[in-house]
Amino acid sequence: MAENPTAGLTQEDDDEIVDYDSDGNPIPPTTKKIILPLPPIDHSEIEYAPFEKNFYNEHEELGSLTGLQVVELRQKLNLRVSGAAPPKPCTSFAHFNLDEQLMHQIRKSEYTQPTPIQCQGVPIALSGRDMIGIAKTGSGKTAAFIWPMLVHIMDQKELEPGEGPIAVIVCPTRELCQQIHAECKRFGKAYSLRSVAVYGGGSMWEQAKALQDGAEIVVCTPGRLIDHVKKKATSLQRVTYLVFDEADRMFDMGFEYQVRSIASHVRPDRQTLLFSATFRKKIERLARDILVDPIRVVQGDIGEANEDVTQVVEMLPSGSDKWGWLTRRLVEFTSSGSVLIFVTKKANCDELASNLIQEGYSLGLLHGDMDQSERNKVISDFKKKNLPVLVATDVAGANVLLGLG
Ligand code: AMP
Repeated sequence: MAENPTAGLTQEDDDEIVDYDSDGNPIPPTTKKIILPLPPIDHSEIEYAPFEKNFYNEHEELGSLTGLQVVELRQKLNLRVSGAAPPKPCTSFAHFNLDEQLMHQIRKSEYTQPTPIQCQGVPIALSGRDMIGIAKTGSGKTAAFIWPMLVHIMDQKELEPGEGPIAVIVCPTRELCQQIHAECKRFGKAYSLRSVAVYGGGSMWEQAKALQDGAEIVVCTPGRLIDHVKKKATSLQRVTYLVFDEADRMFDMGFEYQVRSIASHVRPDRQTLLFSATFRKKIERLARDILVDPIRVVQGDIGEANEDVTQVVEMLPSGSDKWGWLTRRLVEFTSSGSVLIFVTKKANCDELASNLIQEGYSLGLLHGDMDQSERNKVISDFKKKNLPVLVATDVAGANVLLGLG
């Protein structure tokens, strides 16, 4: 709160309605009303019923995979996994050992195989472990936390009238809330589970009524959930499965203390899953504070945006502007380090390279038509600084080069 004193200040009636800029990034709300965190709670004074977290039985097909095969499989799925004793990645729906009712719903969605984040995320979540998932929207991450959540809920005793949810999913915006809620309903149908979405901008009264009617799953934006808990429309006493989705976006929007307030109000032995598109320092700190012995899964080429890297963006409208800009700066750049230039097409790559060679620069080329040994040679020369400049079309190749892939 000291770092961000205006966090959580929102309009009286439509807190958390989010506008987006032209790039689709949320614009932090202009704010008036302070949503105070929930009052502190002493969990040692509450008698929580015991519950089961681990429902995972490794499929026999995975039992025979060697350590090396697991490493290769993760590479193939573009996954990086860290943390104590992570389960092996699954490669088919059969490996999840889900029951027929849930498989029926999945088949109805016409998914043929799990996405990479599901291959690794589902066995982690099914085994009751806390997890940090670094994955983009579109990766299939929503189902990766919903399917294990349903198994988790089904193991618990039914909700009594007046009891709050068993699973809570916290996300930054109304749109995301509605999307996740739709997925919860789609797959929750397998067991007739109820999901309620509560978000800023929606009717407090209607949401409160839906909460009071009872739901095993609540999908929410953080401030609105806090409001409902304060007004006793629901309680977090029965929550044992807690998900924070798009945590970095929630932080960008100033919801950090609300996120922390919710986490501190749920029994400490719950299962917690944290999803984010980046793993910046603040998210890392949150993960340390609210997760226990987590497994971290990074899917795809995204990952930690390194805070030590300064990015300077300059927009240059034409080819001749770019050429002028580059030749004016290249001496300075090469004298302070290595220079990597990305171009869109191989033809641009050849043209730029021959122009630079005419100017007297020595450089390497990296593009899709080269065979592996040529690529390796160029990459190794660039790494050893035998070549100060590399012109490349191939982002994947360059990721390997930079140690990101
Ligand atoms: P998400 O990243 O969770 O927003 O999911 C992106 C989209 O992928 C959603 O429209 C899902 O319905 C869809 N999806 C999720 N899992 C699978 C799968 N295994 N196969 C194909 N599509 C999927």
